[in-house]
Amino acid sequence: MSVRRVLVVGGGIGGLSATIALRRAGVEVDLIEKNSEWTGYGVGIIQPGNALRALDGLGLAQECAAQGHPILGTRSWTADGATLLQDNDFPAAVPGLPPSNGITRRRLHDILVAAAEDSGADIRTGVTASAVEQSAAEVRVGFSDGRRRGYDLVVGADGLYSRLRDEIFGTHHRAKFTGQVAWRVNLPRIPGLDRLWMYRGSRGTAGFVPLAPDLMYLLTIEKVPDSAPVRLPRKGLAAVYRERLAEYGGPVAHHRELVRDDAEVLYRPVDNVLLPAPWYRGRVLLIGDAAHGTSPHCGQGGAQAIEDGVVLAEEIAKQLPVEQVLDGFMRRRFERCKTVVEGSERIGRWEQDHSLDIDPDAAAFEVTMAAMAPL
Ligand SMILES: Cc1cc2nc3c(=O)[nH]c(=O)nc-3n(C[C@H](O)[C@H](O)[C@H](O)COP(=O)(O)OP(=O)(O)OC[C@H]3O[C@@H](n4cnc5c(N)ncnc54)[C@H](O)[C@@H]3O)c2cc1C
Repeated sequence: MSVRRVLVVGGGIGGLSATIALRRAGVEVDLIEKNSEWTGYGVGIIQPGNALRALDGLGLAQECAAQGHPILGTRSWTADGATLLQDNDFPAAVPGLPPSNGITRRRLHDILVAAAEDSGADIRTGVTASAVEQSAAEVRVGFSDGRRRGYDLVVGADGLYSRLRDEIFGTHHRAKFTGQVAWRVNLPRIPGLDRLWMYRGSRGTAGFVPLAPDLMYLLTIEKVPDSAPVRLPRKGLAAVYRERLAEYGGPVAHHRELVRDDAEVLYRPVDNVLLPAPWYRGRVLLIGDAAHGTSPHCGQGGAQAIEDGVVLAEEIAKQLPVEQVLDGFMRRRFERCKTVVEGSERIGRWEQDHSLDIDPDAAAFEVTMAAMAPL
């Protein structure tokens, strides 16, 4: 094999999945994660069918399904409760698994970390790469813990605000603000919630996502009201979120009253990035959000990060020279991730300007179906 030894930078969904996939292909892997503890923050994530299919290839989909809650499809309403879409159900990508799965991030992270540790990868937390020097034959990396080592390939999975992207591709490719912000909070599941329930409001969309028999999360993606600041202090978040949900009726009106604890509310600006192809320079490749960080409108960011690792391992297993491995990876990944980033961005644009001729449900379904195409 031309790629025998790989360094993965970043222990999020993308880096952990790549580590597991590469180890299954017989590659020696070191993984570094800058945080000294695995934090996997506490709200949930949607795993669409293509994420479950990719995880199935890693032997992890059944466990995710067992620890999550099935999502059969989507329903949507206007903010005041008029039906827009009734049961737009997804096909299952893998027989025996749900079409889509909701799971807490903590549980997903625990599953991925356990599998990465069992894979035999050398995993170090609290460590960053302090120097990355490339020659034709290898990438020599110095680490913050004083170690140095040479690799055939470095995989940067260090997220939306990737330092490796800045270093290798320059700071002009940084993630940009989309004009929207995201609110998330875990709540007791509404009995019978087995689809994404979405409510289209005047500045965005609020929705419920099942995560476990007793748990769901409420997600809102919205344009910041004129004259309101984008950055908000943690203190007072619950009250601001309740106020932003005031236009919604039905179950949102009821559940907004449960949002009381500032510490339970996650709030962040929504940024995105699509690095132009190719996502590698020499022997350093970016994957996941570092290369294609999408807004969350289609629930595909984590799914695409998992697929990256699976495809990279498949390309390495073909035993071609490194340049061909990376070209093969790009051929299979760029258009697919571009469809996700741009399709999600379109929905976000409509949420900010309803005069645009975009049907958000149809756009999301289109992206989901494109992502279900074989890898
Ligand atoms: C509001 C919201 C909702 C979302 N909902 C969904 C959803 O429902 N479904 C879905 O599939 N996706 C969803 N996503 C997207 C998904 O969270 C991301 O696409 C996914 O987490 C990307 O994984 P990643 O591993 O590329 O990056 P990250 O998860 O950001 O992981 C990067 C890791 O690298 C580490 N790191 C950073 N810098 C360094 C460094 N210098 N050295 C070492 N380590 C470093 C970080 O600590 C982190 O652990 C959502 C995103 C948002 C914002």
